[in-house]
Amino acid sequence: LVRVRGLRKSFGGNVVLDGVDLDVREGEVTVLLGPSGSGKSTLLRCVNHLETPDAGFVEIGGDIVGYHQNGARLHALRSRAVTRQRAQVGMVFQQFNLFPHMTLLENITEAPVAVRRLPRKQAAARARELLERVGLGSREDSYPRQLSGGQQQRVAIARALAMEPRLLLFDEPTSALDPELVGEVLAVIQDLALGGMTMIVVTHEIGFARKVADTVVFLDGGRIIESGPPADVLTDPRHERARSFLAAVL
Ligand code: ATP
Ligand code: MG
Repeated sequence: LVRVRGLRKSFGGNVVLDGVDLDVREGEVTVLLGPSGSGKSTLLRCVNHLETPDAGFVEIGGDIVGYHQNGARLHALRSRAVTRQRAQVGMVFQQFNLFPHMTLLENITEAPVAVRRLPRKQAAARARELLERVGLGSREDSYPRQLSGGQQQRVAIARALAMEPRLLLFDEPTSALDPELVGEVLAVIQDLALGGMTMIVVTHEIGFARKVADTVVFLDGGRIIESGPPADVLTDPRHERARSFLAAVL
């Protein structure tokens, strides 16, 4: 479903992505690990076109968005494919980013109604199903501030699902949460995995990676230094950098 090739991105003179290749098959979960500053968020943001790479391409569901420095022709090719790709990708952030002045139901129906022109009644029915699915079936009229962090993050997941993405990206979805709330959010993500949702998850929750990931990718200094099934990458990493990182987070 996802094919990333030769992705490069610098900020000023700082090379953040240094030629990244990544494949994610339909229905698979990829966990992205790596030290702070290794480029994990930037990689997700490039896949979602929140960031424009300097070179390389992102292919999602057969649509290719290529980048080339000063490549005016490619640029012209890009815009419609970017729009098509964005419609297929949902993202959940560390800070849940819910709209504070809207109820949970309004948070979830906003985008489907405004962007996809879904009739409000239909969007609301779907939102109720999604709230049920993340264990918040009785809370549609609550406001985000009335919920715990774990509940807010579950609403953020429901909101992303409301757009019916083919691919969901998570950037450290549990790292802003109190430890006792981490499990309920990971359980929702695991449930999505069992349902066949394709996902890329940046997380330092190694236990989750071991249980849920099909592939674990280890990023260091903007390069993928290790990639494979969790049993290999997490148990017996070949690279010293991956070893010391795992020793530190376990
Ligand atoms: P963390 O684990 O801390 O979230 P990360 O692996 O997600 O780290 P990124 O956020 O992708 O790392 O950042 C990689 C590098 O790129 C960092 O050195 C960061 O300072 C730099 N960077 C990221 N975004 C920008 C930006 N918009 N402008 C300038 N530098 C940036
Ligand atoms: Mg990050």
